[in-house]
Amino acid sequence: MTLYDSFSMTSHYSYEAERETKNETRSKHPGERPLDPVWKHFAATPLKSLSHFFAICKYCNTQFSHGHPNELEVHLAKECEDESLDDEIRSKYLEIVVQRQLSKKKLVQKINQKNKK
Ligand SMILES: [Zn+2]
Repeated sequence: MTLYDSFSMTSHYSYEAERETKNETRSKHPGERPLDPVWKHFAATPLKSLSHFFAICKYCNTQFSHGHPNELEVHLAKECEDESLDDEIRSKYLEIVVQRQLSKKKLVQKINQKNKK
């Protein structure tokens, strides 16, 4: 069984989280454009410091000196109030952010259960 198969059986969001972890460790390709779909909503400029990107929100022009997909998703979901941001996009990322928080809680619960035994 491949790594991908094992993740596709779990939730979509845990696969996303795993992919992001890989992106963080992948640092041999400076200048490569970020792959997370959230970047469609931001103008990304590669920084010299390896895998970091300078990000600017295309809607409200908020700047992120070290744009991380998680942070950008939270911005679209909760912080960006520009009228040109589509409600569908906002609710989509709100769901992603909420689901990620829920899966983190589940993970903590699992760890706590293991510790009890
Ligand atoms: Zn914004």
